[in-house]
Amino acid sequence: MRAAVFHEYGGRLVVEEVADPEPPPDGVVLHVGATGICRSDWHAWMGHDPDVVPPHVPGHELAGTVVAAGPAVREARLGERVTAPFCLGCGRCAQCLAGETQICDDDYQPGFTGPGSFAQYVALPRADLNLVPLPDSLGFVEAAALGCRFMTAFAAVTVHGRTAEGDWVAVHGCGGVGLSAVMIAVAVGARVAAVDVDPVKLERAAELGAEVTLDAREGDPAAAVREATGGGAHVALDALGSAATCAASVGSLRKRGRHVQVGLMLGDERNVPIPMSRVISHELELVGVHGMAVRHYPVLLDAIGAGRLDPARLVGATVALEDAGAELAAMSGFTRHGATVIASF
Ligand SMILES: [Zn+2]
Ligand SMILES: [Zn+2]
Repeated sequence: MRAAVFHEYGGRLVVEEVADPEPPPDGVVLHVGATGICRSDWHAWMGHDPDVVPPHVPGHELAGTVVAAGPAVREARLGERVTAPFCLGCGRCAQCLAGETQICDDDYQPGFTGPGSFAQYVALPRADLNLVPLPDSLGFVEAAALGCRFMTAFAAVTVHGRTAEGDWVAVHGCGGVGLSAVMIAVAVGARVAAVDVDPVKLERAAELGAEVTLDAREGDPAAAVREATGGGAHVALDALGSAATCAASVGSLRKRGRHVQVGLMLGDERNVPIPMSRVISHELELVGVHGMAVRHYPVLLDAIGAGRLDPARLVGATVALEDAGAELAAMSGFTRHGATVIASF
């Protein structure tokens, strides 16, 4: 099969012929229909993730058709159109038994701990627990656009943020995951204040229903959110992952508000200062989110089927497998607007 491979961190991603994958005993092989290009792929390529060892095929935001299944796969899966979360739970650990497959103690992540979906075929273990059948109405490109940004934003806003109708939600950072959060919060009936340093992203946030947009370069974004929301947001998300956006998110909350850390904290910003005195005096909650449990997919797919959510609106471009390397390299410049999805292999 054809796959996009890098042989060293930061080295060129080359499309080459590699062996077709075999289905694991408890898994399947998918014919990949579409796969998103995500900042997590960029981090893997740059060598920020010790699980990733070159030569490596990235790709974890996938959708496709089951073309082979191992002997232990219980359900008749051949021909099924599916997606899967980027974090495949084992089904046996304490987290999985509690339904929290996204923080499995022994997780498998295509594109990180194993070969990913920047390829014509990808093998996925643990199929019975983790495969999510797609409704006929949802195309592969739209389904690829669900992971990982959209489903993580869905978990952040609904499961962890517990956002209710009429709440104010502050979204700090309006890249892929931030704009997803804006759309989801609006669908829940929340009022959204979107914060970024890029006027184009703020414009997109407004198109998706953000009531207030704030340019973080113009003064203190936390104070601006408190001012615009009559005392602070009920729920605030750091959707970028930086010391500045994290502090702004915590600072933008009203009393008993909830900060959800969505953006990854990497490199020098793994450990950032948090104003804990404010957490105490305001009785704030701080929550992290590492993706969405596979059991929440039906609610997400229902909302899409009913037209309340439309992840396709967040797709900026569809490209071919040959373009993946250039797209990944472009992420070093923080220039892209909208998700890029590989749709031809
Ligand atoms: Zn597990
Ligand atoms: Zn991703």
